[in-house]
Amino acid sequence: KTKESGKNGFSFYQPASGPGTPHQLQLETELRRALERNEFEVYYQPQFNTNTNEIIGVEALVRWNHPERGMIQPVHFIPLAEETGLIVPLGNWVLRSAVIQCKKWQKSDSIQLSVNFSALQFQNPTIISVIKEILDEADFNPSLLTLEITESIAMDVDYSIEVLRNLKTMGIKISMDDFGTKYSSLGFLKKMPIDHLKIDRSFMSNVMYDSDDAAIVKAIISMAHSLNINVIAEGVEDENQLSFLKDLKCNEIQGFLLSPPVSVENFEVLLQKYTTNMENPL
Ligand code: C2E
Ligand code: MG
Ligand code: MG
Ligand code: MG
Repeated sequence: KTKESGKNGFSFYQPASGPGTPHQLQLETELRRALERNEFEVYYQPQFNTNTNEIIGVEALVRWNHPERGMIQPVHFIPLAEETGLIVPLGNWVLRSAVIQCKKWQKSDSIQLSVNFSALQFQNPTIISVIKEILDEADFNPSLLTLEITESIAMDVDYSIEVLRNLKTMGIKISMDDFGTKYSSLGFLKKMPIDHLKIDRSFMSNVMYDSDDAAIVKAIISMAHSLNINVIAEGVEDENQLSFLKDLKCNEIQGFLLSPPVSVENFEVLLQKYTTNMENPL
């Protein structure tokens, strides 16, 4: 089976092929080499405030710019990077690149940078000093950094809370990504020092057709409002979803309606278009 997939060109991560199979070992070797050869690239997706129509933040999303296979999406390599632990050096690389890049975009400390953070990065005891070093090197204001974590850090709640508290002491913000897709214990949400909740796009995609999804989105927004947690909707693709969210006073959105993740150059075009000109405020 693995021989065939080699013959017909390389096929990417398939959970069914399992860890330790030749296919996976080959991909693991390629991932390692890609890090050394600097084949990864960070794309940026804007986050908007729908009241002001301004870019208020940006999420850094990694891509693998493969010399032969072109741009590879994270779904094809992040799971293996997680399995093999390569997500730790990769994630730190993404953080460093994004912080350096976003520093150049700050005119008046107005763009919040969100970076996805794996549970494995959290479990690494050097995490706090690594982040400090990256921020210091770039002279980046820690309060402009948001780390996006997922419910999977719930594996070790007490340890996670301690790390999160340390990060918050530094001024860093914490966002709960993909909210509602996994364990989603409300007790967990209460215990965790969270600043932002991201509504997973799996709920958004059917929000106009599926009354259950609509109810879930409404509940998440109203819960976030009452807990005083910022809420951002991900995966907003059309005007109907946008007005649904506006009616619920969910004013921060991210999605293809406004822009997919784009390269550095294209993000700069968006910034020109959607950032307040200081000499000519709205
Ligand atoms: P995520 O953190 O939930 O990121 C949002 C994903 O939703 C991105 O996919 C983005 O392109 C996609 N998206 C945003 N708006 C829309 C929309 O309107 N419609 C649709 N169909 N999709 C939309 P992407 O870039 O493929 O990333 C997938 C996942 O890979 C991320 O989900 C995150 O879990 C992971 N990932 C990406 N970069 C990193 C990284 O640097 N570190 C770690 N640990 N994970 C990463
Ligand atoms: Mg994210
Ligand atoms: Mg998400
Ligand atoms: Mg997601």
